[in-house]
Amino acid sequence: MKILVINCGSSSIKYQFYSLGESRILAKGIVEKIGMKGSFLKHEKESGQKVLFEGEILDHKIGIEYILGVMSSVKHGCIGSLDEVNAVGHRVVHGGEEFSESVLITDEVIVALEKFSELAPLHNPPNLKGIYAVKSVIPDIPQVAVFDTAFHHTMPQHVFMYAIPYALYKKYGIRRYGFHGTSHKYVSNRACEILGVNPKEVKVITCHLGNGTSACAIKYGESVDTSMGFTPVEGLIMGTRSGDIDMGAVTYIMDKERIGTKSASILFNKHSGLLGITGISSDSREIRAAAFEKGDERCLLAIKMFDYRIKKYIGAYAAAMGGLDVLVFTGGIGENSDITRTGVCENLEFLGIEIDQQINEGLRGEERVISKEGSRVKVMVVPTNEELMIAIDTQHIVDNKK
Ligand code: AMP
Repeated sequence: MKILVINCGSSSIKYQFYSLGESRILAKGIVEKIGMKGSFLKHEKESGQKVLFEGEILDHKIGIEYILGVMSSVKHGCIGSLDEVNAVGHRVVHGGEEFSESVLITDEVIVALEKFSELAPLHNPPNLKGIYAVKSVIPDIPQVAVFDTAFHHTMPQHVFMYAIPYALYKKYGIRRYGFHGTSHKYVSNRACEILGVNPKEVKVITCHLGNGTSACAIKYGESVDTSMGFTPVEGLIMGTRSGDIDMGAVTYIMDKERIGTKSASILFNKHSGLLGITGISSDSREIRAAAFEKGDERCLLAIKMFDYRIKKYIGAYAAAMGGLDVLVFTGGIGENSDITRTGVCENLEFLGIEIDQQINEGLRGEERVISKEGSRVKVMVVPTNEELMIAIDTQHIVDNKK
């Protein structure tokens, strides 16, 4: 089955085109600067050859037309006609309390997704734009929504509730939802596959460390806790998001700085995290360079804070699950930064976590067990692959519909 996987942001569309039966990625690329000056499509063929198309990509519909156009073009295409696309899988950030798994997109589903736009105003509206765009360009194609929140549906109520008036949970759905679910699910299953263990028999902690960061406690194959909450700002320290903070500090800052909710949201989502602490960058590579090559104090501090917060969550999740068998690192930082993995795992021998530095050092973007032979907990690096997970889920749903 040939499946187009789409991830729509407010001004971008990322895509990958899979032929799942043959385990091939036939094409991939990105449309950027939608609705802005200088919009373009960067397309990569299966051979690795890249092509750039500049043009007036005014909206997501035109973006989708560009993508399908290049995919089916004689010169750069990989299909004879659009009939060869069997289904489209969309990354959708928020599935609210309603969707515990991926779903075939119907008119009713679209109504529900519109409703969840209130809960994820930055993410769901662009995701919906992609769905509408595909619907208008290739109307009869089955479309599937794969949610970032769905994997965390198994969190028990005492975990997902905030200790605020219960009426607010009922009225507005204020609770912890968790995000990055597709990634946590993929890397935990893949880790178990590599180790040859049954996911239903092990306790796993996955650390997705990229620009967005989150940790997840996965007990016997189910997410039982995760660090992001009502929005993706809770939990670990991120590139530009603060992660956990006393809400008393939030209201205090708002009072002192005389800012409203919009500005406060921008402050904690866009100007905090690693960027906020260092004042230099949200990119861990630049921070590491400034810290270790120039001895920048604030960069050194940011690195310590980043690692410490993750360590704290690992301890908490090991306690929550009553043990730990596998610890997985993924995301741009988790996959590539041996220093972060070392910093996080330092002094966790009491939990059975012992990294083998000979394997860890210099390891980038590769599936590997990085713990010592005798380490009670298997520590692993597993590059994430959310697009593949979306393609697999899409195939599954479309197959079951037949
Ligand atoms: P992601 O959001 O998963 O693409 O991850 C982005 C983060 O990964 C950024 O902070 C990058 O600095 C970091 N990253 C990417 N490649 C490397 C690398 N080779 N070494 C260290 N960090 C990296």
